[in-house]
Amino acid sequence: MNNDTFFDKELEKWPMAADNFARIRNSFIDGHRLTLSGDGSLWRIDKMFVNHRRASVTAKTDPSSISSRPCFLCRDNRPDLQSSIGFLGRYEILVNPYPLAGRHFTIASTRHEEQCIDTDFNRILDMAKLAYEMSGMCIFYNGARCGASAPDHFHFQAVSTEAVPNILSKDLLGDKIKYSNHASLYKNNEKTAPYPFFIIESTGNPELHSVFRLLWAELKAINPDLPEPDVNLAMIHDTERDVTRTIVIPRSKHHPDCYYSEKDRLLISPATVEMLGTIICSRHEDFDRLTLQSAYGILKEVGISDTQFNLVVSRLANGRYS
Ligand SMILES: [Zn+2]
Repeated sequence: MNNDTFFDKELEKWPMAADNFARIRNSFIDGHRLTLSGDGSLWRIDKMFVNHRRASVTAKTDPSSISSRPCFLCRDNRPDLQSSIGFLGRYEILVNPYPLAGRHFTIASTRHEEQCIDTDFNRILDMAKLAYEMSGMCIFYNGARCGASAPDHFHFQAVSTEAVPNILSKDLLGDKIKYSNHASLYKNNEKTAPYPFFIIESTGNPELHSVFRLLWAELKAINPDLPEPDVNLAMIHDTERDVTRTIVIPRSKHHPDCYYSEKDRLLISPATVEMLGTIICSRHEDFDRLTLQSAYGILKEVGISDTQFNLVVSRLANGRYS
């Protein structure tokens, strides 16, 4: 069964999920999605009001909260109405019933195992295979401390690209840092996002794996005591150019200060989708108050500093690698 047929069949039998997807579709016409960035801006930022994302935005992900709740990605705890299709023999593709895009899947490991790429580096290859299998969709990974609401159960997600409007932009690429025949690592164009990030463009998965590994080692050196670097990852297979684009966003913190502020609280919890252009607001008051300036400030605050970023860039010796 292909993903579109699976998606349609799930929604046919699951009214709650169908209603939530309808809410996302309607956001384009009911005023619950607005573009903050101006015409001609090289980085688009939208804000979207979606109250069914509240549980995700406010999810408590500390170890004791996680251990005291049943894991919603484990098969035994899933709703009876939810079906799955297998992928690579070790993942299950599920329709996300609390979507933030017109199409939204969760790709969960068949085993209850932690959200960590570092323990199994082949996850990057799995992600690339997913990007190819779900061509045209954005596959993403929220690190355990960077927006994953199930840090105890390994999973990717896949969304339609309206949720990540910058991902295929031709303006993203800045200086090339490293390259081989089939993969190149770039800095982002500084005129795009309000925070620095990396882009890999590849035409071969082994080469993607190699260059990703070089970058990962340098990101890990920032804080070697962590189980893995704090990152958001996004990947898409650009069918027009037959290139796989991987975005690597190093993070300095999970929540911005305004998340905790008593006076000017904005309940915004940036994960990959926020970092790539859609700020999810689960309370209408946050949606009303969020401005382009505050959105820029939040994204800049949770990304890494330019100093830290430039240090990583300088450690990755310029030029060709094999
Ligand atoms: Zn689980």
